Amino acid sequence: MKTEVIIIGGGIQGCATAYHLAKGGVSVTVLEKDRVSQHASGVNAGGVRLLGRHISEVELSKAAMSLWSSLDEELEGDTGYRARSLINIAADEADMITLKQREIQMHKLGYRHEIMIDQQELRERLPYVAAHCVGGVVSEQDGYAIPYKSTLAFRNAAERLGATFLEGVDVARIRKIGDSWLVESDKARFESTVLINCSGAWADKVAVMMGDNVPLTHSAPMLMITSRMPHFATPVVGAVSRPLSFKQFENGTVLIGGGAKGFADRANNRTRLDYAKLAIGAKNAIDFFPIMKTASVNRMWAGLEAYMPDNLPVISKGVNAGNAFHAFGFSAHGFQLGPIVGKVLAELVLSGESKFDLDAFRIDRFERKVL
Ligand SMILES: Cc1cc2nc3c(=O)[nH]c(=O)nc-3n(C[C@H](O)[C@H](O)[C@H](O)COP(=O)(O)OP(=O)(O)OC[C@H]3O[C@@H](n4cnc5c(N)ncnc54)[C@H](O)[C@@H]3O)c2cc1C
Repeated sequence: MKTEVIIIGGGIQGCATAYHLAKGGVSVTVLEKDRVSQHASGVNAGGVRLLGRHISEVELSKAAMSLWSSLDEELEGDTGYRARSLINIAADEADMITLKQREIQMHKLGYRHEIMIDQQELRERLPYVAAHCVGGVVSEQDGYAIPYKSTLAFRNAAERLGATFLEGVDVARIRKIGDSWLVESDKARFESTVLINCSGAWADKVAVMMGDNVPLTHSAPMLMITSRMPHFATPVVGAVSRPLSFKQFENGTVLIGGGAKGFADRANNRTRLDYAKLAIGAKNAIDFFPIMKTASVNRMWAGLEAYMPDNLPVISKGVNAGNAFHAFGFSAHGFQLGPIVGKVLAELVLSGESKFDLDAFRIDRFERKVL
């Protein structure tokens, strides 16, 4: 089978890229070893967060945020997106000092979307917050979406524009012959001019087959969700220096994250939960919101996620072969970026350029010499 572009990986990055390429009139095939949206992109916390981004990511994240606000109309689908403020809570004065330093840095760069709030405003916005919390920082433009719905909305829109999605195709071999990429699973063979690696926690293996090495690791961040509770929090909530993040959905259930990791077995597509760490996450939630003592946890799970040493993604042309591109290593915050990453990759394929400065995301950034 021959196509202009092959994308390996049917997560949000692969689906969004397929959408933007198909919109640009390119013939594109997505090869997915399991099911589209089965891994990180379908099971994450759905946080659509601009607050607290690494400086290198702020411009991309802002652009992604403006796409999220009209994504349902653009894709003619339902992503479950809800605009909500996001508040990171300061538990003590040391946290307020950390926030002040960040504010100075952001203002110097001309960014005004992170606004510090005092204790009184924190209580007005989150009446159930614990008495010891002293303030925080808010971003009004943040929110959440439903991960699998969002990823499938991209897939469906891409398919309507002519993109092909093949599930159960585990890419095992890649070769470049002349100007063509030959991509093989154990059962089928595909050919394209351009090859894009969006293979998430498996992306280092795919990168090597494309000629590029990368220090990617993988892990299994965990989440838990409660039964329905009385409504007590409209904003999405995080903490400045404690591993806490949660959101209460419109049906009353509360999704609790915070970055605690379970055990990852990517060779077998499996994760195992670390209950001791989940218990610490639950205790943190109670420390910040005593009402959470009444919560009962309904379900817990983990997903396989790709991490880079600097927690910044790879969004990059290939280094050792032409017509090769990579987008992976999102280090537990790639869902929000998905819509813009798809657009940027499509632009790189179509014009060779992006208006964003992608230098911090180069695949070879750990190999380059510091002069
Ligand atoms: C528990 C959890 C909570 C998170 N919370 C948030 C959050 O609140 N906000 C946020 O922004 N981000 C969050 N993230 C991170 C976010 O989910 C990921 O960064 C993002 O989904 C990565 O998308 P992806 O398309 O790169 O990877 P994936 O969704 O993993 O997709 C990659 C796909 O490639 C396929 N693949 C791999 N190798 C091959 C091969 N050889 N052949 C064919 N197919 C292959 C895989 O099967 C997989 O489906 C969270 C992640 C987890 C796990």
